[in-house]
Amino acid sequence: MKKTTGTDRSITSKWRPATRAVRAGTWRSEHGETSEALFLTSGYTYDDAATVAARFAGEAEGMTYSRLQNPTVAMLEERIAALEGAEACRVQATGMAAMTTALLCQLSAGDHVVAGRAAFGSCRWLVDNLLPKFGIETTVIDACDNAAWEAAVRPNTKVFFFETPANPTMDVVDLAFVCGLARSHGITSVVDNAFATAALQRPMEFGADVVAYSATKLMEGQGRVLAGAVCASKEWMDNVLLPFQRNTGPNLSPFNAWVVLKGLETLDLRARRQSENALEVARFVEGRVPTMLHPGLPSHPQHNLAMRQMDAAGPIFSFVLDGGRAQAHAVLDALQLIDISNNIGDSKSLLCHPASTTHANLGEEARAEMGVSEGMLRMNVGLEDPQDLIADLDQALARAGL
Ligand SMILES: *Cc1c(COP(=O)(O)O)cnc(C)c1O
Repeated sequence: MKKTTGTDRSITSKWRPATRAVRAGTWRSEHGETSEALFLTSGYTYDDAATVAARFAGEAEGMTYSRLQNPTVAMLEERIAALEGAEACRVQATGMAAMTTALLCQLSAGDHVVAGRAAFGSCRWLVDNLLPKFGIETTVIDACDNAAWEAAVRPNTKVFFFETPANPTMDVVDLAFVCGLARSHGITSVVDNAFATAALQRPMEFGADVVAYSATKLMEGQGRVLAGAVCASKEWMDNVLLPFQRNTGPNLSPFNAWVVLKGLETLDLRARRQSENALEVARFVEGRVPTMLHPGLPSHPQHNLAMRQMDAAGPIFSFVLDGGRAQAHAVLDALQLIDISNNIGDSKSLLCHPASTTHANLGEEARAEMGVSEGMLRMNVGLEDPQDLIADLDQALARAGL
């Protein structure tokens, strides 16, 4: 395998993000293939015993087993790290494997975690159910409230964990403030950046220590495979995450890595076009519904903050109807083009009722505290012509009495 200039960080760091998304991390075999090769292999063979012994001793570079290294997976990790501006990246089988790995690899019984209350349902489950089971204390707060972060810090606080914009309330967290506060207390900030991706928001530029992803969403972009990623410093990756990942095995398969690698080549294009489409569709919907939650619109309470830390607001927004679940379901049932689906980041436009799907198992109390009401719908705007999406929403809202 020959590594291209895309693997030389002194070169890729000078490239602009769109170039990194297409070129970074590319290795080529002796065939000189244009498209990255798919190494669907679990193991490796060696010319002689000394070679494998040196690799296992850590004295020579080279692959030994795909739970530890795989060329296709390594290409994806290099590309994501370059996009993020991170020293290192490791990928996992799903976004939840990435979140679980990023948290459990660094936490022990007796530690304390502060987390944003508005979060992807399974992320909240980790904080509310998994971590306490292992003796890790957790506090959930309104992540938009800077004073709440300060007030929640304890001597044993080890991690801040949040997403921005948050699912599905579109809460925006002040990255510079919260990551700065973490740094000043020796706390590790872990930011779930799935909604924006590095194409639209790079939390490390605001002081984040660890950026974690569901790559299933906008990164992969076409609804094909599940994947996750964690970005951090090389030191943290080598000493904290890697021992956990190598021995517990939440690894991403080479095939899925290859699909995400190819998805990243169009990330910049998709993220920008879907953001533009989402703004156009949201402006229409805003005139028809009581509450619109889109960080790119001036009506969003944190619009200015969102625009300071994001290049564009992304493909996702939520809105709230007065007629509760019945009216929200009526809109879904009247759709003719947009699909009813709980996925996001896809190039197909999708509409979802969080209270009865993604956030159903949290229970009514946690939903109310988070602001996930019965009348809320969450929209992912894809790559269709926005005028067709507006026409579909126009007729569906009308049929639901709006
Ligand atoms: C989807 C999602 C996850 C979980 O990712 P999977 O790939 O589905 O495991 C985590 N966080 C956020 C913000 C998400 O949208």
